[in-house]
Amino acid sequence: MSGADNTFDMAADHSLLARLPELSDGLADLYRDLHAHPEPSFAETRTCGIVAERLRKLGLVVTTGLGRTGVVGVLANGEGPHVLLRADMDALPVTEATGLPYASRTDGVMHACGHDMHVSCLLGALDLLAGDRKRWAGKITAVFQPAEEVGSGAQAMVDDGLFAKIGTPDIVLGQHVGPFPAGTVGCHPGPALAATDALRVTLYGRGAHASRPEASVDPVVMAASTVMRLQTVVSREIAGGDTAVVTVGALNAGTKDNVIPDTAELKINIRTYTEEVRGTVLAAVKRIVEGESTVAGATRTPEIEPIDSFPVLVNDEDAMARTVAVFRSHFGADRVFDPGPATGSEDCGVLGTASGAPVCYWFFGGVDPDTYKKAAEAGTTARDIPTNHSARFAPVIEPTLSTGIEAMTLAALTVLSAGE
Ligand code: ZN
Ligand code: ZN
Repeated sequence: MSGADNTFDMAADHSLLARLPELSDGLADLYRDLHAHPEPSFAETRTCGIVAERLRKLGLVVTTGLGRTGVVGVLANGEGPHVLLRADMDALPVTEATGLPYASRTDGVMHACGHDMHVSCLLGALDLLAGDRKRWAGKITAVFQPAEEVGSGAQAMVDDGLFAKIGTPDIVLGQHVGPFPAGTVGCHPGPALAATDALRVTLYGRGAHASRPEASVDPVVMAASTVMRLQTVVSREIAGGDTAVVTVGALNAGTKDNVIPDTAELKINIRTYTEEVRGTVLAAVKRIVEGESTVAGATRTPEIEPIDSFPVLVNDEDAMARTVAVFRSHFGADRVFDPGPATGSEDCGVLGTASGAPVCYWFFGGVDPDTYKKAAEAGTTARDIPTNHSARFAPVIEPTLSTGIEAMTLAALTVLSAGE
């Protein structure tokens, strides 16, 4: 982070946020429109068009089609730090069941993870920042990222030359709406979202008639033995204080009772929070898969292919401390909480890893506070509050939208230089 003159003036911030009430009706309309028109990963063309047009109106220099359907807007405003503000844009293959008047008009596609809210909030924050350039100095890059849900949108933008184009940011800021009371923000320093590795394993045996096991190398037995042995990775190789999950979510082999098949396929999902544990688990899985194959007498080495992968998202401790301080000061300490590490995954961290910049990523609530309070009192939040990816996930527009806009604006201002 550069700039000893990066003094943070709360009074300036509040005056910059003062224009928010003028914008909120228009942004709520935008949110409803985006919600009604969800687009799957790498197909966010309508959304991109809307985003690009709005960015141009705000005076940002816009690039479209980066990482296939990504949009980047740059706002340079004198000497100062460079902040990257990120929102994801894609929807999910879910049929909406919210019954909202602005529910999805596309069958089988839904903004069930709130990325429509992220887009609306970032556009709102940019409107505030672009509209009052005397209050800050530096450079803002807004990254509207495709395909977060498949874990490859951030990487696609990096591979397409994002950082060659914009330079290295001093920080990457991102946020996600979640099943917490609207008006609250959740911040967890350090590893905040798990790494995911999904693997496809093909075990090679030798098929034969079921009556002649002596002519076969049975991949069904090999697979069964591999699945059981994989259960020892977490229990026997990971320290008690560390966390990892190894799930074999799919096991496919054979077609008929009297045929020993040639191959078996496993699909394995792995969750970890540190590179060290991740490395240990991946190495153990490889060793066990290959070992069981050898023990069974396979003549061909099994194949292990990555299906998809999300790195762990690690929040920079200093950046998170600064951000929490400004959130507490603005929202009040009772509206800022620590949700602990989440088992979900996010590819926002890729933007930090690829550029070497620290990442600061937080959650903001989307549930009507009264509804949440009643469910919490009854002990039924898990059952009654629809969570992300649910067909009933329906953030209340306010105060969710305003909170997300304020959070993103304030977090950016803590990094940018103070203005005149
Ligand atoms: Zn999601
Ligand atoms: Zn999401």
